[in-house]
Amino acid sequence: MAGAFAGGLLAALLPCNCVLCSASGAALLCPGCRDQFFRLHPPRCPICANPLPPQPASPSASGRAAPHAARESAAASAPPAAQPPLASLVPCARCQSERPAFDATIVAADYALPVDRLVLQLKFAGQLALARLFADLLAKAVKDNEATRPALLCPVPLGMQRLAERGYNQSLEIARPLGRQLGIALHAGLAVRVRETRAQSSTPHGARHANIAHAFAIPERALVEGRHIGLVDDVMSSGQTLQELAATLKRHGAARVTNYVFARTPPNTN
Ligand SMILES: [Zn+2]
Ligand SMILES: [Zn+2]
Repeated sequence: MAGAFAGGLLAALLPCNCVLCSASGAALLCPGCRDQFFRLHPPRCPICANPLPPQPASPSASGRAAPHAARESAAASAPPAAQPPLASLVPCARCQSERPAFDATIVAADYALPVDRLVLQLKFAGQLALARLFADLLAKAVKDNEATRPALLCPVPLGMQRLAERGYNQSLEIARPLGRQLGIALHAGLAVRVRETRAQSSTPHGARHANIAHAFAIPERALVEGRHIGLVDDVMSSGQTLQELAATLKRHGAARVTNYVFARTPPNTN
């Protein structure tokens, strides 16, 4: 078992083996695994990216394979698994009753087996090559919808202590190649963390808001004012961290905030 795990880690380090199934190939992710684990079930809430209930108005919203005719009538630019244009979707009940500070969220995958293993390898095992793969998958998800692009990307910042312990900010590692692929400027210091917080993942759900409240500051308001800011993070679960950061950006005059998140925790496990 330990051998298999070590084998998995080793495979993840080799550029020509799939990080999930170790199959030899030309990319870090084989087409089979990409198809199986990175095919999100649309539609998603345009604001928080949680799955929406089936939308009767849309032929592709039932989750079943669309008939050939329906598929052919869909825009050729939209692959079958793509999220419908964000503007065409009604937000989920939760976002309608209490609108988040962010305006949109785009994700590349569900945070579930075996994708969660990759996230942990980037976050805790220093496998920085995975950040480029995450950026590739996220860029594809961004290109698959018609949302307006941010003017500037900002990774969710780590506190100084955690940054010193880990040696890198995984969100920045994803944001760099993502910005290059999308042609969006990156500003790593746009937001800073002004106090250390416990990891949200190890904080009880009811205490997450208090844990993250007032954790961020924006050193240069002029960079934010009137602009559309894209926040980049590896995982979104309760969404409290992105909510707090987006609220801070809005207080400093941001016109719009879009989250680009690699993996989204399914709502029943929030
Ligand atoms: Zn594979
Ligand atoms: Zn929502």
